[in-house]
This record gives sequence, C-alpha cells and structure tokens, in this order.
Amino acid sequence: MRGSLTIVGLGPGAAELVTPAVTNALKHSTDIVGYSKYIDRVRHSRGKSFHPSDNREEIDRAELSINLALQGKKVVVVSSGDPGVFAMASAIFEVVDKRSISKEDLPIVVLPGITALLAASARLGAPIGHDFCVINLSDNLKSWDILKARVIAAAKADFVIAFYNPRSKSRKNQLAEIYDILRETCKSDRLVIYANSVSTKSEAIFETTLSEADASSVSMKTLVIIGSSSTKKIRNTGYVYTPRYSGLEKN
Ligand code: SAH
Repeated sequence: MRGSLTIVGLGPGAAELVTPAVTNALKHSTDIVGYSKYIDRVRHSRGKSFHPSDNREEIDRAELSINLALQGKKVVVVSSGDPGVFAMASAIFEVVDKRSISKEDLPIVVLPGITALLAASARLGAPIGHDFCVINLSDNLKSWDILKARVIAAAKADFVIAFYNPRSKSRKNQLAEIYDILRETCKSDRLVIYANSVSTKSEAIFETTLSEADASSVSMKTLVIIGSSSTKKIRNTGYVYTPRYSGLEKN
C-alpha cells in the first residue's frame, strides 16, 4: 500500500477552529506525529499509532514521518496554528531537500490552519487591516544580529509587527532589548498587545503602550503585536484597528 504524508495545522487551540479538511486527514491517518502537547489535542482519535516527541526535535520528527510514510503508513504531522508558520512544514521540506525526495516518491500535502496572529487579530478587531510583518523572536536558528536588523527595518517601515516565540526560559531578556530598540524608532504611545493562549480556556489579552510595556509578563504562550503609527483603540468601544489607508489621511 502506498503511504502518504499530510502536514496539518490544528489552529490556535479551540476545537471549532480546526478545519474540516484537517479533521478528515486525521480521521483517515494510521500514524500521528508531533510535539507531545499537540499530540495531546488529538489523543481521542481511536486506532492510531501516536508518535509524540519533544519540542526541539523537529528534524528527527521530520525524518520519522517521512520514513513511516515511505513504509506505507498514512502519516499526519500536527503543528499548532498553521504548519507553515514557524512550524513543522519547513522542517519536513528541509529533509525532503536533503534527501531529494520527489513528489513521485512521496506526495506531501500541507493543510493550513488558523495561525495565532489571525486568531488574536480577530479578538481585537482589525489590527492587521493594513501592512504588517511577522517575526520569530527565537534566535535558536538565526543570529541575534539578523533578528535585530529585521526589527529595526520593520519599525522604520512602520509595519504592524507581530512577534511569535517572544520569550522562553532560556531567552528571558531579549524582548526587553527589542523594546529598547523599538523605543529608539517609534513613538512611546505605540499600542502593544499581549495575546495569551488565544481561543483556549486560559485566554487573556492585554493592551499597553511601548513606553509602559513590561517584557517580564510575556511567556511562550503570548503573541505580541506592536501597532503601527496608525493603529488605534476606538475610544469607549474596546476595539483595536489599523485603518486601511496610510499617508493618505484626509484633512
Ligand atoms: N505554527 C504556530 C506558531 C508556532 S510558534 C501558529 O501558526 O500559530 C509558537 C508561538 O506561537 C508561541 O510562542 C506564541 O507566540 C504563538 N502562539 C501559538 N498559539 C498561540 C495562541 N493560542 N495564543 C497566542 N499565541 C500563540
């Protein structure tokens, strides 16, 4: 029997935000591979072989899923959010590239999921209604200098900026340093949003400003959004949005 490899995103947390296509792929799988916390989200599926592993073992996980699929298994690899956003899809294609595995050898399907930024944005109103960029604040796989250069460029270009992986046990001080860099370029009243565990039971969303922002209240479960110069709170409504125009304001 020919195997298959499907890389799926489970969305930000809520079951209702998992797409029907992902649910269908899980239903027809024989083997489910992923970080143990994400595997826990699909443990209820019956009759499957589960292959949980530690968060940092992406390449081992990619090798395992490809090998299982080449052996004829119907493999689904799970990520949170979208699998193409700082997640397993790239790790798998790194192995595909290294081993030159063609579409004929193994067809790979990527099924999108709702990434954390879209879930957080929807809760707030429309903060990414104008140009925005997304930066992974983890410097495990890139240099701190590259990261800082990208943050400076994004701030100078006046993008709304979303930071994934803003802080971890091994990276405690970097977000504070990033705030110092942003304070040199942006005005102090710039909106800063902390969206924690969006769409889960522990969801908590806070708004502050760049001058007040405290990096120590951020965790790995937080998505940080820095508003552009035009992102604003609509007074007395609780909504945050970025207008669709920029530099074209009417007098
Ligand atoms: N593939 C995932 C991102 C993985 S990187 C996606 O598309 O969403 C992990 C980072 O994503 C976390 O450190 C956090 O910044 C963000 N994140 C993931 N789920 C989240 C959620 N439910 N609420 C807020 N941020 C989340």
